[in-house]
Amino acid sequence: MTHTAFIGVGNMGGPMSRNLAQSGQEVKVFDLSPTAMQAAAEGGAVPSQSATQAVEGAATVITMLPEGKHVKAAYLDEGGILDTAEPGTLFIDCSTIDVASAREVATAAKARGFRMIDAPVSGGTVGADAATLTFMIGGDAADVEAARAQLEKMGKTIVHCGGSGNGQAAKICNNMIGGITMIAVSEAFCLGERLGITAEDLQKVVAASSGSCFAVTNYLPVAGPTPLSPANFDFKPGFMTKLMLKDMRLSQMAAVETGQPSPLGAQAAMLYAMAEQEGLADLDYSSIIHLFNKGRVK
Ligand code: NAD
Repeated sequence: MTHTAFIGVGNMGGPMSRNLAQSGQEVKVFDLSPTAMQAAAEGGAVPSQSATQAVEGAATVITMLPEGKHVKAAYLDEGGILDTAEPGTLFIDCSTIDVASAREVATAAKARGFRMIDAPVSGGTVGADAATLTFMIGGDAADVEAARAQLEKMGKTIVHCGGSGNGQAAKICNNMIGGITMIAVSEAFCLGERLGITAEDLQKVVAASSGSCFAVTNYLPVAGPTPLSPANFDFKPGFMTKLMLKDMRLSQMAAVETGQPSPLGAQAAMLYAMAEQEGLADLDYSSIIHLFNKGRVK
């Protein structure tokens, strides 16, 4: 058992698998999308015909899939990862999913003699490319240590947040902040434009003032001041609106379950649902600015 299996090599998993492969280890990848497989192969990974083929004999299995239902199916379905992996294999799920699904899969994995951590990430496709992701981890301390060398090849900050599912808990709290602040920044930059201030000047001011946040310093929804943000590339993702909507809904489900009032999170979830209806689902989530500018700000 030497190689790493990587299942789901889309916008995030693609560059993450490339960084692992370029560190010198054998990485066998599988994705339902031929385009994603092609890109991963160009990054140095070995394409497999199926998830089963990738997982057979792997020391570590990493998954980076869209939602809880995909993760549950990949691990728990007949012939899935739990049926295929060798006992003792370490599973690292980097997808952003609901806490309950993360705990269900980890419990099933441990009952079958596997080790598993939930390790969702922050930092976006830029962080995935540059291997500067933040990993927030739920699971046993020994399993986090066993995963550390692999995670350090894909990221720079590793925070162990407690038992299974706690990585996902940290992630949905973080993304609730990210989703809300992107809307605030969109509104403010549209207002600034109406008031006659350029996006360049406003960005310089806010980045050095109390309104500063990731959406202003790295990911402005207006082309120009932050050169790597998707606004400079016709809002090509990045992080799709439909995935941000998923995360906002996860935060609201958690708020209901725990009785925590979350009025801005609820409003933001509604606005991303409206953005999806406006045809922005597959664009980057920063395209939510289109709800406020209607053709004025590019
Ligand atoms: P993506 O849609 O680009 O990639 C997901 C990939 O999974 C796709 O290529 C898809 O074909 C593949 N897939 C789906 N089901 C599969 C299966 N059963 N077997 C094999 N492959 C399968 O999405 P992404 O942006 O890479 O996001 C992946 C996860 O990472 C999501 O949970 C997302 O919320 C999270 N995330 C994304 C970002 C970001 O900036 N894009 C940042 C942090 C976290």
